[in-house]
Amino acid sequence: MVRVRFAPSPTGFVHVGSLRTALYNYLFARHNNGVNVLRIEDTDRTRLVEGAVENLLRTMEWAGISFDEGPTQGGEYGPYVQSERTEIYRNYADELISNNKAYPCFCTSERLDEVRKAMQASGQPPMYDRHCRNLTHDEVREKIDAGIAHVVRLRVPLGETITFNDLVRGDVSFESKTIDDQVLLKSDGFPTYHLANIVDDHLMKITHVIRGEEWLTSTPKHVLLYRALNWEADMPKFAHLPLLLNPDRSKLSKRQGDVAVEDFKTQGYLPDALVNFCALLGFNPSDTQEIYSLEALIASFELDKVNKSGAVFGREKLDWMNSEYIRSKTPEELFKSVKPLAEDRGYTVSDEYLLKVIGLMTERVRTLNDFVDFASYFYKAPTEFDEKSRAKNWTDEAKLRLADLLPLLTNSTEWNHVAIEQIVRAYAESKDISAGKLIHPLRLSVSGVGSGPGLFELLEVLGKSEVVSRIAYALEHLK
Ligand code: GLU
Repeated sequence: MVRVRFAPSPTGFVHVGSLRTALYNYLFARHNNGVNVLRIEDTDRTRLVEGAVENLLRTMEWAGISFDEGPTQGGEYGPYVQSERTEIYRNYADELISNNKAYPCFCTSERLDEVRKAMQASGQPPMYDRHCRNLTHDEVREKIDAGIAHVVRLRVPLGETITFNDLVRGDVSFESKTIDDQVLLKSDGFPTYHLANIVDDHLMKITHVIRGEEWLTSTPKHVLLYRALNWEADMPKFAHLPLLLNPDRSKLSKRQGDVAVEDFKTQGYLPDALVNFCALLGFNPSDTQEIYSLEALIASFELDKVNKSGAVFGREKLDWMNSEYIRSKTPEELFKSVKPLAEDRGYTVSDEYLLKVIGLMTERVRTLNDFVDFASYFYKAPTEFDEKSRAKNWTDEAKLRLADLLPLLTNSTEWNHVAIEQIVRAYAESKDISAGKLIHPLRLSVSGVGSGPGLFELLEVLGKSEVVSRIAYALEHLK
């Protein structure tokens, strides 16, 4: 039975890298008819952010990633929030001390700072100097009785090579001399990530640990902990997912653009587009296809098909994918997402009208927000006019022609794009001018810009009285 977990720390917004991790766990669980667990890793009390858990749950729901066990679902192995499990970790820390696999350390933070600085100054990676590693039993007793605060550290064996298999990377080895005597329990009695994470993975019977590459260097510590607790025989399998990169191949960072799932959501990306895009950051079942439904991803997902090399987070591809997803939906499907956006901006249009705008713009937008921001002239008459188009198209002749055409439009009995086109073309013919001489100034006068959807469709959607009043306004005000 496959059991995987997504184990975020609620430290703020949800990074797209976390979304990918959550997604791969979900795909793997569903592909194997396994169990997907959500576990909240909130033992670092200094990094907690109010509301982060709620935000995380909302984001997962938005993305369509579901869990079988977790803080809201409950389950056999709960509680699923680590701060509610501190007693469990303390007991294992005690066990590790009594088996001589861990030791109490009484060093002050001032001393640790000095050690760190000295090591850095001599060009070594900063590590604990193992000052308390060989205190005698009596020395330890004495300090504890004197009430000196202490942490518990892992006694990393010296001179060993720690090797484990990674389902993405194959065998990975670390020399134990590069591994710090990791703090397992802090002086406030809270465990560190490392202790809580492996205790829970074990107790929750996790079979596969699927997480980002940034955790690879923690894994030898975890392997040592599994050994120290005699759990090595049923240690989970590891799969570390490739780093996400900026287009210049540096590590994906907020500095170069958005990284929070919430940002993409507020910018009008569809969840299925973002999920499809994130799924392909390190995995693609085929060389020729890019659009996959969640069902198709579940059907084809295999950990051994995940790439080792970093995956570039290409914004253009995301935009393309989002517009593909938008196009695949009907105006009715898009309506419920676009309506609140229009309301947010204070636009008061009827549902029927909004549906028509959506239908007309679907082919031309990249995001849901584009429906309201890219073509604001659907919602309010233009008062500013594109300078380039004005200079080119708003000639004295054009004004005369539009003034002449206006009553024909006003008096038309039918208002649809076919009828409007007929009026405009018939008029152009009667005056022996090209229809373009009318189309460009017409567009400018009703929309304020030089390009957009087909003009006659646009006029139809805007409606006769709006069109007539906009043309009249332009004739009067636009010089
Ligand atoms: N709590 C860790 C995080 O925030 C979990 C890493 C892991 O999956 O082991 O990503």
